[in-house]
Amino acid sequence: MKPVIALVGRPNVGKSTLFNRLTKTRDAIVADFPGLTRDRHYGNARLGKREFIVIDTGGFEPDAGSGIFKEMAKQTQQAVAESDVVVFVLDARGGLSAQDHDIANYLRRLNKPTLLVANKAEGMKEGSQLVEFYELGLGDVLPVSAAHGQGVRPMLEAALDKL
Ligand code: GDP
Ligand code: MG
Repeated sequence: MKPVIALVGRPNVGKSTLFNRLTKTRDAIVADFPGLTRDRHYGNARLGKREFIVIDTGGFEPDAGSGIFKEMAKQTQQAVAESDVVVFVLDARGGLSAQDHDIANYLRRLNKPTLLVANKAEGMKEGSQLVEFYELGLGDVLPVSAAHGQGVRPMLEAALDKL
């Protein structure tokens, strides 16, 4: 069985962009509209000879009776349950939000290796804006730019190291 990495995080942080970068496909729907991806997407990825599966999350049916946030939470929980490692994606530019805290609280209770990454970090001074993310109590946070490909390889190495 290939290891499975789940990308979780609130809408618009760049999960689908990271998914596309990792799987080198445009399978996931990348949009300027939070949460447009309708379903979880699975993709194959590799780091050198190591192959793994990536799950993109955050999709929901816009008119789901249960409401957007409930559906997102369900999606996240299902993806996390299916995964061996969770990559929790944050927005290095947008900073922490209440939703980030909710996701962190959920992840902290699980016995699942978790890696924090701060996306959209291109052009940012090394580390300076990442201090606040330590507040989540989930350890180190790695800066990445899914759009530009920066930091993606070290991120993958760190994620696979947690297996
Ligand atoms: P998702 O909702 O978490 O799946 O986020 P998306 O992948 O759909 O991206 C949301 C928005 O953030 C889009 O406008 C992307 O172009 C933008 N975005 C994604 N990655 C980066 C990045 O590394 N840097 C910057 N500046 N923008 C990004
Ligand atoms: Mg998405």
